[in-house]
Amino acid sequence: MTDERLAKTVSSAYDAALEVIASVEPRVAEATRQELADQRGSLKLIASENYASPATLLTMGTWFSDKYAEGTVGHRFYAACQNVDTVESLAAEHARELFGAPYAYVQPHSGIDANLVAFWSILANRVETPTLQRLGAKNVNELTEEDWETLRHEFGNQRLLGMSLDAGGHLTHGFRPNISGKMFHQQQYGTDPETGLLDYDVVRAKAQEFRPLVLVAGYSAYPRRVNFAKMREIADEVGAVLMVDMAHFAGLVAGKVFTGDEDPIPHAQIVTTTTHKSLRGPRGGLVLAQEEFAADVDRGCPMVLGGPLSHVMAAKAVALAEARQPEFRTYAQHIADNAKSLAEGFLTRGAKLVTGGTDNHLVLLDVSGFGLTGRQAESALLDAGVVTNRNSVPGDPNGAWYTSGIRFGTPALTTRGFGHEEFDTVADLVVEVLSKTRPGTNKAGAPSKATYATEDGVADRVKDRAAEMLDRHPLYPGLQLS
Ligand SMILES: *Cc1c(COP(=O)(O)O)cnc(C)c1O
Repeated sequence: MTDERLAKTVSSAYDAALEVIASVEPRVAEATRQELADQRGSLKLIASENYASPATLLTMGTWFSDKYAEGTVGHRFYAACQNVDTVESLAAEHARELFGAPYAYVQPHSGIDANLVAFWSILANRVETPTLQRLGAKNVNELTEEDWETLRHEFGNQRLLGMSLDAGGHLTHGFRPNISGKMFHQQQYGTDPETGLLDYDVVRAKAQEFRPLVLVAGYSAYPRRVNFAKMREIADEVGAVLMVDMAHFAGLVAGKVFTGDEDPIPHAQIVTTTTHKSLRGPRGGLVLAQEEFAADVDRGCPMVLGGPLSHVMAAKAVALAEARQPEFRTYAQHIADNAKSLAEGFLTRGAKLVTGGTDNHLVLLDVSGFGLTGRQAESALLDAGVVTNRNSVPGDPNGAWYTSGIRFGTPALTTRGFGHEEFDTVADLVVEVLSKTRPGTNKAGAPSKATYATEDGVADRVKDRAAEMLDRHPLYPGLQLS
């Protein structure tokens, strides 16, 4: 089908879908329409978001959602799963081929689920199996109550070393309020306070002292690449399993922007990811593993998960097939090139960046130079149609709620076709808003970390300049709702 013909077909499909939805609950249909208009009309710079293809989105809206399929392909606890088997096999095959991984598990509903599957697979492989052997039991059904007590004790005494949240790690990497920070004894590594960069010698020293079972690498807000070969060396030195959470940068791995030591697949025993961030698929997760962990990961259901989201597995198959096309490599390279353009745009306008730049898909702007908190900056930008999120910077004096940083990512606008010139303009618009915004006061007249005031007219001028770029690079070109 030609692009034009396809766009017409997609338009009719959504017109029909919205009509059907409106016949039951018109307010949902209206919110769905409005969401498209809002996403089309704003600069989406949230680093964890993207725009999946119509093919991927449409695949999620089917009767696969109605099917239970606990178990694995060909080995289900439910009858009549032959079509789920087809789509799950396809998704797993595309994932293995795309990433060059020996094994892929596509059932996790989200990134957090993928990480839980990974944690428990490591615990099963490295704690449960040896404990069963020691107790002379073939499986857990043979354990006595006393044995269970022993096993629970061993599960509860394992250690995890991950990147701290304020250095750019994720809450599932051992952050206390998350279950990963409760089920494991945890310690965190940060980044160098001067450079903002990972210091592998510091990670090594911590690992040697703490001797974790799990070393987690990966991040949500670190604007640099990681040397996974080095991380594996460290893990091996202390007998840890290296788990890489590539939720944010899976698209750059898939698109071969990260290769060699920066490609986690050959180095980590287990790799987890979301499918909806730079990978540009449906909202979900997946786990890739080396053979040694395959059988354990395969037990994700019932270990951690219930029934898989069959409609989402189908959409993963579609999105992963898209990511195997040569165009995806071009897309991934543009994500990284555009992040460089955005970073340079900030630096030439005198703004301060954590680590002084970027070599992945994200840029972390330290807004303290504008006299603002992250919360004030985020809100002022949103008023001008610039959608970002506030983020801690290393050693953040404003804490995790107000923060001192704004995180920008290029995957979404790169999908719309933004390039160097547009990202330079984005930097200009952001600096324009922030340099004309002042911190406000609370009701009692004291300084506030939340309130702010932007000079009159700035938000509208920025919106106009953004609209010109957004019109030139439409979201879902040709998709027209009647
Ligand atoms: C986004 C993210 C997750 C969680 O993904 P969800 O799908 O929101 O559960 C996990 N790890 C990292 C590093 C992430 O960036």
